[in-house]
Amino acid sequence: MDFKLVIVTGGVISGLGKGVIAASIGKLLQSRGLSVSMIKIDPYLNPDPGTLNPVEHGEVFVTEEVWHFKPGRGVEFKIAEIDEDFGHYERFLDVNMHPSSNITSGQIMLSVILGERKGKYLGQTIRLIPHVTQAIKERIYGVAERERPDVLIVELGGTVGDYEAMAFVEALRQLRLEVGSHNSVHIHVTYVPFVETVGEFKTKPAQLFFREVLAAGLPPDFVIARTQSSLPDGVRAKLALYASVPADAVFEDPDLDVIYELPIYLEERGLGRKLEEKLGIKGEPDMGGWREIVRRFRRGEPRKVAMVGKYWRMADVYISIVEAIRHAGASLGVMPRIMAVDSEELERGKGWNKLEEADGILSTPGFGSRGTEGMIRAAGWALREGKPFLGICFGAQLATVAFAREVMGWEGAHSTEIDPDTPWPVIDLLPEQRMIKEVGGTMRLGGHEVVLLQGILRRAYGRDRIVERFRHRYHIIREYAERMGEEGYRITAVDTSGRIVNAFEVEGHPYYVGVQFHPEFKSRPGRPSPTYSSFLEAVRGS
Ligand code: GLN
Repeated sequence: MDFKLVIVTGGVISGLGKGVIAASIGKLLQSRGLSVSMIKIDPYLNPDPGTLNPVEHGEVFVTEEVWHFKPGRGVEFKIAEIDEDFGHYERFLDVNMHPSSNITSGQIMLSVILGERKGKYLGQTIRLIPHVTQAIKERIYGVAERERPDVLIVELGGTVGDYEAMAFVEALRQLRLEVGSHNSVHIHVTYVPFVETVGEFKTKPAQLFFREVLAAGLPPDFVIARTQSSLPDGVRAKLALYASVPADAVFEDPDLDVIYELPIYLEERGLGRKLEEKLGIKGEPDMGGWREIVRRFRRGEPRKVAMVGKYWRMADVYISIVEAIRHAGASLGVMPRIMAVDSEELERGKGWNKLEEADGILSTPGFGSRGTEGMIRAAGWALREGKPFLGICFGAQLATVAFAREVMGWEGAHSTEIDPDTPWPVIDLLPEQRMIKEVGGTMRLGGHEVVLLQGILRRAYGRDRIVERFRHRYHIIREYAERMGEEGYRITAVDTSGRIVNAFEVEGHPYYVGVQFHPEFKSRPGRPSPTYSSFLEAVRGS
């Protein structure tokens, strides 16, 4: 197989924005007319991130396609829930990712152990090296075989030196050997903190991790340093020395206002050319279109959007939603300022001023009862006050609960996810979910066709059939929705069977829309989601 390999690893701390860097490198290469595939390795033992706590792990990204992962006889997992970095890959490269491009330790271990039961390794003692490393390489080669890219970028999650990442680091070392050093580069992303008290950038943490990659036989070709601001030459030289690379192989990734600018920033500092040299590729970068898209993110009329959610303790939890709001804003000439509103604070009577200040309110996805009363009250408030309101998945379900309670007077109305004994179960399990007991990978997942019947969304999309991505177990019960129709609750989208409610709006309100799907996962810079554009139009006002 003939592809160029780019390995991206990280040191010092996780959460460095390595995904944005990997996606930006993809963009540099894509802008030279090359086809790029992306792989992300997550060394945790979960088969996918679907059951992880969002406050710890961040957003779960949902792909259009569902992958039926079959590691052994009679064992099958439905995977469409993958790492949030895939959101960056899709947004920067404007492609749909396949869920099997997210490789976890859990998947690898399952394949190896169940493979042993099948007799794949008869007579052998299975070890991390060579069996697990072989299984890792097979998965990587599998992506290359399916997608036949010019360049394959493999991002290793976490930091090098983590125990759980060791087999992957070793597999990457072997992979580099197999594709040849002239066909591969290793980019190590590090962190260089500026310590205010001494007024200096500190390189010691970075040095310790350079030692790790060098000892692992994975010497870097380039170093990208996450910093607050530009590094002095002396600091750069020190990093180069310890990483054992030339000084001009050290790049930086400072805090940028618009993340989509990073490919342009790195191109202007020569990373694209250097990659060409190292990988033996040629091509004139064409970043004109991308520059034009990025430019639009810099200007616009300021507007405030309050995002009500229960997971705000972690900034990345709603990353695709935040980006979708920005994409829609950029295309409409609106500069959205997003205000985080913790729904538990609302329950304690705090944060309501932010809702009043806001030009629009977005209610977010979620699971479980904590913080839901705050979300219901915020939805009821937006309904009464005539504030533009968009509810996404859980946000739409709880807005339906608010309508049932406040407009219909159905006291105690709820979703059975939170109150199984509610007298008004306006939100209940999907019919096919009733028999399911396990929680991992069992929701209604991935892309499904949606039939737009009428109203704002039908107009915004300009067609009656669309595909959007889903991740849910519960849904709006049609019989109740129809009764609420007497007071202006309109079903505006259904599934292809016509039975499952996919969206609603409230007649007589300037903009009150709820969607069961997650349009944020399909929004791209330069090509915003029509759901979000219609919301931002209402937020902008006329
Ligand atoms: N908990 C709800 C359900 O399972 C909503 C899920 C979501 O917001 N993604 O249907």
